[in-house]
Amino acid sequence: MQVFSWCFVFLVLLCFSWAQVEVAILEVDTSQELSVGELLERANRDRTPDFDEPVLIGGDIAVRSEADRNADPCTSSGCLWLKYTDGNVYIPYYIANHYSDREREIIVRGLQSFSTVSCIRFRPYQNGDHEWLSIESRNGCYSYVGRVGGGQTVSLSHQGCLYHSTVQHELLHALGFNHEQTRSDRDNHIRVHWDNIIEGMEYNFYKINTLNQGTPYDYNSVMQYERYAFSKNNLPTMEPIPNSNVSFGKATQMSQNDIDRLNRLYKC
Ligand SMILES: [Zn+2]
Repeated sequence: MQVFSWCFVFLVLLCFSWAQVEVAILEVDTSQELSVGELLERANRDRTPDFDEPVLIGGDIAVRSEADRNADPCTSSGCLWLKYTDGNVYIPYYIANHYSDREREIIVRGLQSFSTVSCIRFRPYQNGDHEWLSIESRNGCYSYVGRVGGGQTVSLSHQGCLYHSTVQHELLHALGFNHEQTRSDRDNHIRVHWDNIIEGMEYNFYKINTLNQGTPYDYNSVMQYERYAFSKNNLPTMEPIPNSNVSFGKATQMSQNDIDRLNRLYKC
């Protein structure tokens, strides 16, 4: 009888501790509610790159050398992915085998989300492909802007980059897009508070001569960072014009504008 009661106590304790573990898991993972900008900043904060990793600008845009900092590679060398005779743009990808099944699913879901709304078709790498996206967990989340040739790294770190929004964001870079806050017409829509930006990070807010495809500036773009991006003092680095209270930089997936300009850029 006593053995039975001890078993019962043990089972109760086991259930109780499991319930606590579950509560802890629920409490920890609030990341889904964070905006894409917050996720990217969190993942790339205190990043220590390996010797073979690229320099980053704008928080998560890879460049081949420091000299490329202010240039949009697309403007000088043509970085669109090529279109096939059937009207689709096929982009090979390779997903490194160090991802778990769940992580891989998030990445594949992000890749596939483009095919329902555009003529972009990400497809698995095949022997003989000359240009492809090599999706790997390196240090942080980052991508080059546009097609740069060969196997180009899209880093989606295990540590903080595996969300639908961050996958779409990095893929949009690879397709040729820059951050919304660096758009050529930015100053009509966003006021940058230069004094609040971390020293040395001002270049993240330099405007680029972007092709805006006739689409309006979009506060809800998945490429728009949030109000406190790169702030050194917890004061806003960006505020909307004219009404500074308007919400922006809260996207958790591509907006209709992101989709429209993608379709226009690739003439889908
Ligand atoms: Zn970015």
